[in-house]
Amino acid sequence: MKKEFWFVVGSQSLYGEDVLRTVDERAKEMAKELSKVLPYPLVYKVTAKSSSEISRIVKEANYMDECLGVVTWCHTFSPSKMWIEGLKSLQKPYCHFATQYNREIPNEEIDMDFMNLNQAAHGDREHGFIAARLGLARKVIAGYWKDEDVQSRLASWMRVCVGVQVSRTMRVMRFGDNMRDVAVTEGDKVEVQRKLGWEVNTWAVGDLVEEMSRVLESDIDALFEEYKKLYLIATDDVEAIRYQAREEIAIRRMMEREGCGAFTNTFQDLYGMEQLPGLASQHLMSLGYGYGGEGDWKVSAMTAIIKAMGKGENGASAFMEDYTYHLEKGREYSLGSHMLEVCPSIAADRPRIETHHLGIGMNRKDPARLVFNGKEGKAVVVSLVDMGGRLRLIVQDIEAVKPIMNMPNLPVARVMWKALPNLTDGLECWITAGGSHHTVLSYDVDASMLCDWARIMDIEFVHIDTNTNQATLERELLVNDIVWRFR
Ligand code: MN
Repeated sequence: MKKEFWFVVGSQSLYGEDVLRTVDERAKEMAKELSKVLPYPLVYKVTAKSSSEISRIVKEANYMDECLGVVTWCHTFSPSKMWIEGLKSLQKPYCHFATQYNREIPNEEIDMDFMNLNQAAHGDREHGFIAARLGLARKVIAGYWKDEDVQSRLASWMRVCVGVQVSRTMRVMRFGDNMRDVAVTEGDKVEVQRKLGWEVNTWAVGDLVEEMSRVLESDIDALFEEYKKLYLIATDDVEAIRYQAREEIAIRRMMEREGCGAFTNTFQDLYGMEQLPGLASQHLMSLGYGYGGEGDWKVSAMTAIIKAMGKGENGASAFMEDYTYHLEKGREYSLGSHMLEVCPSIAADRPRIETHHLGIGMNRKDPARLVFNGKEGKAVVVSLVDMGGRLRLIVQDIEAVKPIMNMPNLPVARVMWKALPNLTDGLECWITAGGSHHTVLSYDVDASMLCDWARIMDIEFVHIDTNTNQATLERELLVNDIVWRFR
C-alpha cells in the first residue's frame, strides 16, 4: 500500500491574494524538497484559511488509508479557532512542524510586509495553543526545515506513524494458549483491540498440523535453497531442517490467509508436531513477522510493529528474553536469548543452522535453529505489560557488546549487553516498573520513537536511561498510577 503524509499549512484571508500565493508556492517547494530526503512523501494539500477547509482536509485524511499522518505549519498567522472543529475530529497522527521558510533575517529587506509574510514565530504559537487546549496527542518538531537533524526527527516521526498504522491493522495468530500459570504474558485482549487495534485470536494446532501435511516436497526444496543462501548449514540432520521448512510454509500460509502479521505458539502445545518451530520462527521473523514464545501475544505484536518502524520497514529488531547475568564487578552484563527463537536480523555474523536436543516441551526430534551472536551497538529493550485497566510500555536503553566469552556449548542465538544506567540499578528499575522477561530488542528504533508511539496510542510510557534511579522512578510510577486512573 502507498504511504504518504499530508502537509497542511495554516494562514488566513486577511493577507490578500499575493501573500497567499507566495505561501502556497513555498509550501509546495518545501514539501517537494523534504520528500526527497524523508522516507515517505510529504504531500502538500492546502493553505487553510477557514474552518470548513480544515474540517474537509481532516475528514479526507481520516478516510484515506494511504495518509499515515498530518504535518501542520503556519507560515503566517492562522487564528486557531478555525482549527478547533477539524483538529477535534483528527484520527491520524499529528505533527506540528514549527519551522520558517527563510533561515536568516534579511537585514536590508526586512520591513512590515516581510514580517507579516514570515511570521511563523507568531503563527506557530497560536497554532500550538489550540492543540494544547484540546489536549491532543501531537509531536512538536521545531527547527529549520533544511537542517539534517530536523529532517531526521521528521523522518523518525514518520517511522513511528508506520508503527501506528501496523498496530491499528495488526492481527495476531495464536497457536495454543499462553504457557500455563505465567502472569506477565497475559492481558486484556479487548482493551488491546480498543487501544492498539490488535485482533488477537486463536487457531488450533491441529489445523497447523493439517496445513503442514499439505506442504509439497518441492516447496520445501525451494525454501531449503533459500536457507542455504542465507545461513551456514552446520548439521547433518537435513530432515530436521526440512521439517522446519514445512512448519514455516504452513504457518506462513495460514497467516497470509487470515491477514495476520504476528503469531505465537507454546512448547506446551505441539500436539502432532515433531519439533518446536525454531528455524521456522526465526526465518519468519526475518521477513518481518512478529513472534512471541510461550503464547506471549503482546511481545509478538510488538516485535512486528517495532520491526516495521525500522529501516526498510523491517529493521534490526528481535523477540528477546533476559536469561542470565554476568556479575563480575565492573564487567556486568546481561545475556539474552530464547530457547530457539531469536530473529537473525540482529546477527553480527552469518547464522549457523544447528540441531540440538531440546528437553523442554514435547519435541520428539531435535529442532533445527539458527545460532549466532547479536551485533554490537546502542539498542533498547521494550516490554508492554498490562497493569489492569491500562497498558504500560517500558523501554530501557542498553549497549549490546561483542560477547566477552564464546560459550561454545550454548546451542542458541545470544546477545550480551550492558544495561543502563548499570546492570543492578537498571534491573531494580525494570522490576519496579513490572517489565517482562520477554522483550523486543531493537537497534533501529530508539526510546524517543517509542515515546511518540505510546503517546499516539494513548498508553503509559516508562523510560529507563542513563539518568534513571529507582527513587525518582518510583515517584514517576506513583504519579502515573493516579494520572492513568482518571484517563
Ligand atoms: Mn520465553
